[in-house]
Amino acid sequence: MADEHGPVLDRIAAMPGYEPGEQPRGVGLVKLNTNENPYPPSPRAVDAARAALEGGLNLYPDPSSTALREAASACYRVPVDNVVAGNGSDEVLAMALRACVGQGGRVVYTTPTYSLYSTLAATIGARTRELAWPEQLSDEDSGDGVPEGLAEAAADADLCFVCSPNSPSGRAVSLEAIAGLARASRGLVLADEAYIDFGGSSVIELIGEHDNLLVTRSLSKSYSLAGMRLGLGLGQAGLIDALAKTKDSYNVSRVAATTGQAALEDQKWMRANAERVIDTRERVTAELRARGRRVPASAANFFWLDCGREGGRPVFERLRESGVLVRYFDNEMLGGGVRVSVGTDEQMDRFLEAVGD
Ligand SMILES: *Cc1c(COP(=O)(O)O)cnc(C)c1O
Repeated sequence: MADEHGPVLDRIAAMPGYEPGEQPRGVGLVKLNTNENPYPPSPRAVDAARAALEGGLNLYPDPSSTALREAASACYRVPVDNVVAGNGSDEVLAMALRACVGQGGRVVYTTPTYSLYSTLAATIGARTRELAWPEQLSDEDSGDGVPEGLAEAAADADLCFVCSPNSPSGRAVSLEAIAGLARASRGLVLADEAYIDFGGSSVIELIGEHDNLLVTRSLSKSYSLAGMRLGLGLGQAGLIDALAKTKDSYNVSRVAATTGQAALEDQKWMRANAERVIDTRERVTAELRARGRRVPASAANFFWLDCGREGGRPVFERLRESGVLVRYFDNEMLGGGVRVSVGTDEQMDRFLEAVGD
């Protein structure tokens, strides 16, 4: 029988690919669409990158990124065999699926959330269960439980993703709620903490108690290293060992590993920039609310702006014409709105002017 997709599997041909936010070419746009950090990485990290370029590029990197993992171990106060390094935390998410979910296996998460979860699940032929959860977006307080039904769904899933703080809402999930999921589930509970340095409480301290809990961290946002591609997975040694078997063989380059190590060793730099972003987020959300706009409390380096009846797309287009790039999501559950990354104060003043009353 003729095969429409040539050598490609039906499920790959049928799945939509991940749709990343736009990376516009050229300059001029105020870029608030992919949650990058507006401030540069630690100068120590930049020096380390330069030094790595000047010697050793003819040699493969350490396949297990030992020095980088040692820096993470010191920084997060866990044994080094509790850490795996990835080519971005996206790679750690992929490792978790490969290690813990087989073809036809079950993956559960609430929606809306990071859309890569469904893409990664589709690539391995897993079945996904999405629990619609509007997250009471008017709620002033950010940081709470998970919807009723998630623990039950997690109980017979192979993997349950919990994004805390979540995107695009910015809402954090409590430590107690994640511990409850880990207790309820026989499968893996993956706490995606890509934005945790901007708010919310980390569950790294719980990994000793739960052999089915994996915490992922990214150096893309709070450490300003999105271009370098660095992420971490933290969990008990047995789990981490299994994940490491599924990674690309030399998944973190020499330059990335040295840069990441220096960035982790300069916590002061990361914290200072995260605090600046948090201050700006609070100033801008207060200003928008004073104008009568609905902005749910965010624990991340972005916030959700409800666009009401106007919808997300028209606001996105209007802002783009004024030179401000944000991301829109027209989602039944969210209603229309845009997700706005927190930039510098000057960038956010341009956004505030462009968005109008
Ligand atoms: C940005 C992001 C990541 C991935 O970051 P990497 O750049 O791959 O480290 C993971 N999860 C969420 C929710 C994110 O927003």
